[in-house]
Amino acid sequence: MKPFNRILSGYGTTIFEVMSRLAIEHNSINLGQGFPDGNGPDDVRRVAAASLEDRPNQYPPMMGVPELRQAVAAHDRRFYGLDYDWQSEVMVGSGATEVLNDCIMGLVNPGDEVVLIEPLYDSYLPILRLAGAVPKLVRIEPPDWTLPREELARAFSERTKLLLLNNPQNPTAKVFSAEELGFIADLVKRHDAYAICDEVYEHIVFDGRRHVPLASLPGMRERTLRIASAGKTFSLTGWKVGYVTADRGLLQAVAKAHQFVTFTTAPNLQRAVAYGLAKDDAYFDGLAAEMQAKRDRIRDALERIGFRTAPCEGTYFLNADFRPLGFQGSDIEFCRHITVEAGVTAVPVSAFYQPEAGREAPAHFARFCFCKQDQVLDAAAERLERHFRRAA
Ligand code: PMP
Ligand code: GLN
Repeated sequence: MKPFNRILSGYGTTIFEVMSRLAIEHNSINLGQGFPDGNGPDDVRRVAAASLEDRPNQYPPMMGVPELRQAVAAHDRRFYGLDYDWQSEVMVGSGATEVLNDCIMGLVNPGDEVVLIEPLYDSYLPILRLAGAVPKLVRIEPPDWTLPREELARAFSERTKLLLLNNPQNPTAKVFSAEELGFIADLVKRHDAYAICDEVYEHIVFDGRRHVPLASLPGMRERTLRIASAGKTFSLTGWKVGYVTADRGLLQAVAKAHQFVTFTTAPNLQRAVAYGLAKDDAYFDGLAAEMQAKRDRIRDALERIGFRTAPCEGTYFLNADFRPLGFQGSDIEFCRHITVEAGVTAVPVSAFYQPEAGREAPAHFARFCFCKQDQVLDAAAERLERHFRRAA
């Protein structure tokens, strides 16, 4: 038989799926894969249900239903003062994942260099490689995830087509500071590159922070594609409704990919997301406050048990160093161990790094997802506490 695609053949199943399956098998509390255990806001779901019955269910316009494109443009103006024309500068796709794929396909030629800050969300590298890009990875490491500026500057060259930035960042829970963003923006401009910004956690930032899109920095609007997702903003990850805003020339290139990938996205879900994006500030502030309280809850519990937790400035992930507990193995072994022996699942942080000859990825942090009901977080903490007390 002839071989399959040589790039994809090299990848196994994603770590999220692997750990979720293991969690099911061992009846473990799953704080691995990032998804909320609630069912999203009732009113948003009701709009989706009503639209399914009362509104057309045939192909919506390829760029997205007008009310969602208008809502995305209004959202970006309201929260960031960014002005996008809803007709030519907003596109809806089936999740941030599809939109990210469209941006890469629309912009990259084989041989183009792409700068990324590692650890990375799992879909970035495979898609870049399929497009023939040459990834240039710059690492940040726990516990403080400091940006190595010199190294980042060295990663750019005249061959750099774009920077792919995830902010707030999964899995690090880092929110890039205004100063760091300024530094990054200068590099992008100096090298006449583009920026794809995965900002799906834009509304989940803590301790009084405000999300700052790279696109809002001087001179960046015309070279930045800003991606967000209803999955995170409305805790409805299964809906897979994502959107991108960009200057019209850039967006046209992205739309050419989208038309051949999914072409469009379920219209009732788009209408419900349009309704959601127009919700008042209390909703958005409430989401961040709720997640912040959960962060504090799980952080305090893990620290009490003996983990050493890393800072968590945004997203719904907390990273914890397990070495103080006396565990000797790798993070992969640790995540498997607590799933099987304690009944709690996390994901190993090393899975978000590329193996590199002569340079080990940090392998002593586990990522705990905390967008769960308080009693679930408490039960997980209790199980871990009991297990490690017994093991001590
Ligand atoms: N980017 C990051 C950083 C994520 O964590 C996620 C969530 N899985 C996505 C993209 C994908 O978002 P969506 O489900 O909208 O495709
Ligand atoms: N974004 C989620 C995470 O980081 C998972 C998404 C997925 O399973 N593909 O856990």
